[in-house]
Amino acid sequence: MSDVKKTALVTGASRGIGFVVAGKLAETGYNLAICGTRQETIDQAAEQIRGLDGVDSGVEIIARAVDVSDREQIQSFVQETAKHFGRLDVLVNNAGITRDNISMRMKAEEWDAVIDTNLTAVFNAMQAALRPMMRARGGRIINISSVVAGMGNPGQLNYCASKGGVEAMTRSLAREIGSRGITVNAVAPGFIATDMTADLGEDAHAQLTGQIPLGRLGQPEDIAAAVCFLASDAAGYITGQVLHVNGGMHM
Ligand code: NDP
Repeated sequence: MSDVKKTALVTGASRGIGFVVAGKLAETGYNLAICGTRQETIDQAAEQIRGLDGVDSGVEIIARAVDVSDREQIQSFVQETAKHFGRLDVLVNNAGITRDNISMRMKAEEWDAVIDTNLTAVFNAMQAALRPMMRARGGRIINISSVVAGMGNPGQLNYCASKGGVEAMTRSLAREIGSRGITVNAVAPGFIATDMTADLGEDAHAQLTGQIPLGRLGQPEDIAAAVCFLASDAAGYITGQVLHVNGGMHM
């Protein structure tokens, strides 16, 4: 990478997949803008990333408490990032939540929270990123979906709808802005060992791994590798795609 560092923005980078994605991008040489819901934990994440062996001391990180479900907050954060670094090369929409319930009992708040955080926030972030990316005639947008977007999952109607929507938006925006040199792709993780899946009991864990040909849950690093590939020059001719990283549990 040249002296002028590229910039990547990763939402939901305080822990889990987003944290590892941000760390790998920093190791690749990107300046970073990262957010989570709390200033203290996102500051700690930034500190840990700065301390990684592979991260050059010249890498700059801005870390903010941002509620991605708030249009004003996420769009301001994207704008602040582009202004601060003078460019926005990669946007990774990773922040996500679950509020599981069977459909008959699903509350309006559970539906709204998941749609606002996992779907509407992705639109708002992409919309704000378009201006700096179009000005630069290039950019990479990478949205984190889920294997359940394609499979369905009982008790996750809200979550499956949000991730299915993310994949559909990914294809639509890819068609809309391909001529501007901007690629838009999604990564669909299977079950990955993070806080989101930490509550699985032993039985559910065993049942789940039985359905995964590779016989294990994925690690955040498995997803980070896919994101870094889609962000790289090598992926310049890939757009509108969903890259599945799920140990073969869905084919
Ligand atoms: P975690 O629960 O481990 O982490 C979620 C991250 O998102 C945290 O950094 C959290 O911040 C942030 N976040 C949540 N809500 C908001 C919000 N309103 N504004 C800003 N940040 C927010 O999740 P994972 O790492 O497991 O998941 C990351 C992505 O991968 C999600 O989109 C998820 O749907 C997807 N995914 C995960 C799978 C898995 O098996 N783990 C499988 C398939 C997809 P804070 O720490 O402040 O709460």
